Amino acid sequence: MQRAYDYIIGGGGASGLYLASVLADHPIYKDFKGLIIDPKTSYENDRTWCFWEKGLGAWDELIFKQWDTIKFKSDSLNKNVSINPFQYKMIRSKEVYSSLLERIKKHPNIEFCHEKIVHYSDEGVRVLVSTEHHTFSSKKMFSSILNWDLIKSQTKYPLLQQHFVGWFVKTSHPIFDKQKATFMDFSVSQKKNTRFMYVLPFSDSEALIEYTLFSKDLLSLEEYENSIDEYLVQMGAGEYSIAEKEQGSIPMTAFPFEKRNTKNILHIGSAGGWTKPTTGFTFKNIERKTNELSDFLEIRSDFSKFTKSNRFRFYDLLFLDVLHRYNEKGSMLFSKLFQKNSAQRIFRFLDEQSSIKEEVKLMRTMPTGLFILAFIRRLFRIN
Ligand SMILES: Cc1cc2nc3c(=O)[nH]c(=O)nc-3n(C[C@H](O)[C@H](O)[C@H](O)COP(=O)(O)OP(=O)(O)OC[C@H]3O[C@@H](n4cnc5c(N)ncnc54)[C@H](O)[C@@H]3O)c2cc1C
Repeated sequence: MQRAYDYIIGGGGASGLYLASVLADHPIYKDFKGLIIDPKTSYENDRTWCFWEKGLGAWDELIFKQWDTIKFKSDSLNKNVSINPFQYKMIRSKEVYSSLLERIKKHPNIEFCHEKIVHYSDEGVRVLVSTEHHTFSSKKMFSSILNWDLIKSQTKYPLLQQHFVGWFVKTSHPIFDKQKATFMDFSVSQKKNTRFMYVLPFSDSEALIEYTLFSKDLLSLEEYENSIDEYLVQMGAGEYSIAEKEQGSIPMTAFPFEKRNTKNILHIGSAGGWTKPTTGFTFKNIERKTNELSDFLEIRSDFSKFTKSNRFRFYDLLFLDVLHRYNEKGSMLFSKLFQKNSAQRIFRFLDEQSSIKEEVKLMRTMPTGLFILAFIRRLFRIN
């Protein structure tokens, strides 16, 4: 017999656990019977999350380090910018997972199943979710299972990946300025791609350094690691040790993920399109969208009505069209962006909080020809 739940959360990662913790105290969902399905049985420190926000925030107790100044570097620009009133905050996933799990486990009406979901479907009055060994039914399902095949198998929306390898290093020489987070350092060889270093320093000899690309294809592990090593040598790091490593690939696409939502199934996290297509930033969006969802659930129950497209989706699409076609121009595009706009304006734009007037100003700092061409291609569906 199928076990029945009020809701199932597919995938207990960042968005799944955060949503479960919010539903646990939700006026309507708090007493509902919930199930989180994820094959993971333990939670490692598998990712470092950074995001910007103004003043105090929901994660402040877990903040590992924060910066008031960011650095942008390329062949044409070397700029340190104060981001006040924003701060760039960093938290480690292990702390986030522990804190969310602790909150969820206080609610015995939320259960866990450590299996892999192989299929789920909305049957109209209920959702059926099959794992390798069981089938569950529920009234509603939230899925954070990202279907890479789906976004790779279509050509209408170009797909780039933000892919990277990061090392937590300790150097024998003091080479870092712990007051500044290096957002993008394009001084590394571009090799016809968009490649940069991302450096988060904790002291003058400790930092997380990530060799990052916005491009179509992944590299071999060796290539990322050799590039970090070369960078450290160039900085004069001397002997160094690696305390931890991390690696990731985040989808960058304007694919309309919400079209897969149904009345009873909502896709969340990266699987729901909550990753900002042009940057890969997702963490703060998970908090924002989940809070919006919490309000939505108080008054509505048809999940297909939750996500609405906006003008930012179109901006993201055009930017990705350009970066996909001219991947070697990333350094130039981001340099122009940071040269002619304040970090505050860029953050507001990426947070989709800017006014149209501000957006026009920002767009005028970009090479107009490339974007007009991308616009025409979209308009007349030219590939
Ligand atoms: C190393 C790394 C660093 C990142 N750093 C940042 C950052 O600094 N700032 C930022 O904003 N974003 C960052 N991101 C992007 C984003 O915030 C994270 O990917 C975030 O974890 C996305 O949350 P999610 O819930 O969508 O996916 P996940 O956290 O990956 O959760 C998905 C869950 O689904 C489970 N799952 C998968 N398949 C199945 C299945 N078939 N059945 C059941 N469960 C399944 C997985 O085990 C996983 O637990 C980073 C990503 C990575 C990988």
